[in-house]
Amino acid sequence: LAAPLPSFCEPLGDGLWAIDTGFHRVRFDAAYLVAEGGRAAFIDTGTAFAVPRLLATLDALGLPRSAVDFVIATHVHLDHAGGVGQLMQALPGAQLVVHPRGARHMIDPTALWQGALAVYGAAQMERAYGTLVPVDAERVRTTVDGETIALAGRPLVFAHTPGHALHHHCIWDGRSAGWFTGDNFGMAYPEFNVDGRAFIFPTTTPVQFEPDAMRASIARLMATAPRQMFLTHYSRVTGVADCAARLEAMIAATVAAALELRDAPDRLEALAAALMTLYGDGARAFGVNLPDARIAELLQDDAALNAAGLIAWLDRPARSSVAHSPS
Ligand SMILES: [Zn+2]
Repeated sequence: LAAPLPSFCEPLGDGLWAIDTGFHRVRFDAAYLVAEGGRAAFIDTGTAFAVPRLLATLDALGLPRSAVDFVIATHVHLDHAGGVGQLMQALPGAQLVVHPRGARHMIDPTALWQGALAVYGAAQMERAYGTLVPVDAERVRTTVDGETIALAGRPLVFAHTPGHALHHHCIWDGRSAGWFTGDNFGMAYPEFNVDGRAFIFPTTTPVQFEPDAMRASIARLMATAPRQMFLTHYSRVTGVADCAARLEAMIAATVAAALELRDAPDRLEALAAALMTLYGDGARAFGVNLPDARIAELLQDDAALNAAGLIAWLDRPARSSVAHSPS
């Protein structure tokens, strides 16, 4: 090591590091560094405020900025790709690797900003996300489903995985037998881990959640018999088959809650409350041993955001026509 590893940086073995981007709270939002043969790739970036941490990780590992070949975004939601523009400015030799449906939002982030503004409001946008910097179109590489991109000969395989978002791909790293799952294999709070097992629940945030697609994507990830998953929220989980089963059950319960409340008055608040109960009771049953108030505090923002995403799903025109069809 060129310098002591910063506290926000966790070595995972296999030439992988998890970097706590600092977004929202400690150990909530992860970016990853893959290093191979003196070359490097970032997978997700966090927001613009995380860029100094990403660069400090390179410094600590003795990797020059010119060693970074790829900045890979699992998807273009701002808690994972908000810092892409600033990071690309700092890494002159890097290519941005993004799902084809996400590319235009990285080249011109105006629509991305407007979309997030509608969900979060102006004050939170400035505070939480900072500024979005566009990426030169010539530096953007889009993926084809199933494509392999090599980092110094180390194959990274891209799978297009809708469910959380249409512009989402996951990345298979055979060396670690792990997937970088973005937000398509649920989220797991480290605070809720019990004996090294992760309490996991789906990320149904606005505006492209689609449960059937999410299930199909999870099945596709599981088909490679992964040893571990690298989540954005937060970091590595093992016991992957158990996690997948719990995730399936939680997707079903989440969707049932949304359908039950679809015509309720104040359905956003009602659904957020239902999710608080669903996640909170689930965490308790899983063995999470924290005060009720602490469990609620940790879950509150995600329950509200996931409820909003479920409402967007309920209100999607295609969804309505399916729901009202006689079959
Ligand atoms: Zn996301």
